[in-house]
Amino acid sequence: MNTKPNVCIVGSINMDLTVITDKMPMQGETVLGDKFFTSPGGKGANQAVAAARMGANVNFIGAVGDDSFGPTLRQNLANEGVETKGIETMSDEATGTATIILSESDNRIIVAPGANNRVTPELVMQHSDLIKNSDVVLLQLEIPMETIMAVTELAEANKVPVILNPAPFQPLPEEVLKNTAYLTPNEIELASMKEDPLFESIQEKLIVTRGDKGISFAENGAEREISGHSVQVTDTTGAGDTFNGALAAELAGGAELSDALVMANAAAALSVSKTGAQGGMPTKQDIQEFLR
Ligand code: ADP
Repeated sequence: MNTKPNVCIVGSINMDLTVITDKMPMQGETVLGDKFFTSPGGKGANQAVAAARMGANVNFIGAVGDDSFGPTLRQNLANEGVETKGIETMSDEATGTATIILSESDNRIIVAPGANNRVTPELVMQHSDLIKNSDVVLLQLEIPMETIMAVTELAEANKVPVILNPAPFQPLPEEVLKNTAYLTPNEIELASMKEDPLFESIQEKLIVTRGDKGISFAENGAEREISGHSVQVTDTTGAGDTFNGALAAELAGGAELSDALVMANAAAALSVSKTGAQGGMPTKQDIQEFLR
């Protein structure tokens, strides 16, 4: 019998294409850069890897294109123990990419969502059992908003709690706010959320990640904080993704919110001490040793 906690993630899968250069090209200019590398990314996929490393059984609903990145990214998730049967391959569509130009003083990123835009409510309904049978559903905002609406409605109807990481920030429909158990903005996303007339009504659902300052959240009407860990910072890419994946895995396993947050805060701190979004994500054992 499978007794692992079940997390279902409906989200994005990207290939990150990174080039490092001493000099950013000006308009119309071509420059010779330095290193180029590809790495698996997309907030959905990153959070799936984080949750799987925490020992959860992770089902993924998403889409890749019928190019060479698709099978590579599917295999990467499978290698991490993520169940990929809910990932469709879309013909005549490109896999999502993030093209990242990095120089010492600047970075410029273009995301081409490709197949991630084809994660429709219809596609999700084909895999609705994965949502109904999960302990926690975890979402981000790199797939269409109508899909976010359909997933939160289905989860609510089946009493499955939803964690929604509102990144990249977009205003959220009232039904989505209502059908979500927890919202996990960083401080920048929180500032945008404060513009929402419904903001006051979602205070109890907020878990705010505050970089090296840790986390603040509401418990029984009072604001609580968990301090950040002092760690050697190597690469903060994916800190929020590690946090969300770990939180989902812990809550799915039945942990109390404050205990789950202690684990997720430690998981994210460990991730920033290593390079790469997925490369730095710890296992549950790594976290237990770190907190000992
Ligand atoms: P995002 O990566 O989405 O911008 P944050 O920067 O808030 O989100 O980081 C998410 C979490 O990662 C934080 O709440 C914290 O637990 C951890 N974290 C991020 N940066 C640091 C840091 N410099 N030192 C320790 N922990 C960090």
